[in-house]
Amino acid sequence: MRIIVIGGGVIGLWSAVALARAGADVTVLDAGPQAGFASPAAAGWVVPALSAPLSGPGVLLHSARQALHRAAPFSVSPRLTSTLLRWIVGFVRSGSARRYSAGLRAVLDLGAGCVDDFGRLQEMADLELRQTGLLMAAVTQSGLDDVAQLAEATTAAGYKGGYEILDGHAARLREPALGSAVAGAVHAVDEVQVRPEHVLHALRSELAKAGGRLVIGTASRLSPGWRVESSAGTFTADRLLVAAGAWSTELLAVLGVRIPLMAATGYSITTAGTGLAPRVAVKLVEPSIAVTPFADGVRVAARLDLGRPGGPIAERRLATVLDRVTPYFADWRPGLSTATFAGMRPATPDSLPLIGPIPGHQGLYVATGHGMLGLTLAPGTARHVVPLVLDNVRAPELTPFAPERYLLRGASWRP
Ligand SMILES: Cc1cc2nc3c(=O)[nH]c(=O)nc-3n(C[C@H](O)[C@H](O)[C@H](O)COP(=O)(O)OP(=O)(O)OC[C@H]3O[C@@H](n4cnc5c(N)ncnc54)[C@H](O)[C@@H]3O)c2cc1C
Repeated sequence: MRIIVIGGGVIGLWSAVALARAGADVTVLDAGPQAGFASPAAAGWVVPALSAPLSGPGVLLHSARQALHRAAPFSVSPRLTSTLLRWIVGFVRSGSARRYSAGLRAVLDLGAGCVDDFGRLQEMADLELRQTGLLMAAVTQSGLDDVAQLAEATTAAGYKGGYEILDGHAARLREPALGSAVAGAVHAVDEVQVRPEHVLHALRSELAKAGGRLVIGTASRLSPGWRVESSAGTFTADRLLVAAGAWSTELLAVLGVRIPLMAATGYSITTAGTGLAPRVAVKLVEPSIAVTPFADGVRVAARLDLGRPGGPIAERRLATVLDRVTPYFADWRPGLSTATFAGMRPATPDSLPLIGPIPGHQGLYVATGHGMLGLTLAPGTARHVVPLVLDNVRAPELTPFAPERYLLRGASWRP
């Protein structure tokens, strides 16, 4: 069976490798390095411990309070288009306690086994993988309470990893780079980190080994059959999987299919900095900043700017992010770096990916909308994409991610 996968990010590539290994004739069509590409920007956390949806009980009030601060960790584009407004309405509606716990359980199921999957990828490829766990460090008691509550809810929903609650002193013993302002931390001890660029490289080489091919070209027109016109020529296939991250919206719109996806742009800064650098992955709880030590520097990933484009970041905005890092560390000071860009997370209103067939379009499938967790959820997504695309068999685990939850008569979406 011939399959075209549009998108060579972590979701498209991992799915393509799995499909090729299952015997399909797979072509990945990817636009190549471009501004806003999410996968290489990732902090590298493989974190089922953070499976909770963004929208939940009390989140709206908390976000409204945060929005009043100049240094709020998120922003919403001032260009309030009708799509953005509908997204926001969808976000608010998905914040009930019932939908929050159902979403948390569903994401935990999709991410099951991901740490082992990355371990297997490391056995096959040259991949930087660290097992430091994730230290969620807070400078306020309320921040610490929030993460302790998150740990409790995630465990109750079925998360099997361990958490340890540490006071400030114990947190500094675990990560000596932390400063005296840190009041405490929750250590999710089983989480791992990978260098995202290495993951992409490894997946490209696994794709070639499995007999698949990667073509650099931008898809522009899709027509049933399936026929894909692109800057690299026209391709035909029996099945088409759209995994083009934040760009999936415009690609599917060509077919009249409107999916509820917005770019939730985040900054990625890789810097050596000065002073004693952290050796453990740390989440700075209050400003919601990810800090990941890699062999050649520390990556700082921050912000969620809804509806804004990716690409280069203004120095003024960068400085604001880096200022918020400083209070958590004794003397480590991140510097401005050239390895700095903004990636567009493909985000749905309910924080749940869209994985499944597109109603009314036989042979057309989508795998996107992984938001903050694309790296973590890529192996699980790929596992379920194989029976879905090859045999039209939808695993029960995919039910919460069905595109139908948003698509009205296969064409449009409602919040
Ligand atoms: C700052 C930041 C930090 C993050 N940290 C983490 C983390 O620590 N852990 C985690 O699990 N997740 C993290 N994420 C989220 C994760 O990176 C994303 O969810 C994931 O990368 C999405 O992958 P994707 O393949 O769907 O999209 P992308 O990586 O954006 O890939 C989409 C691909 O489609 C291609 N494309 C687009 N349009 C076309 C077209 N018309 N024709 C052909 N190709 C096309 C693009 O060129 C691109 O290669 C982070 C994201 C950001 C921005």
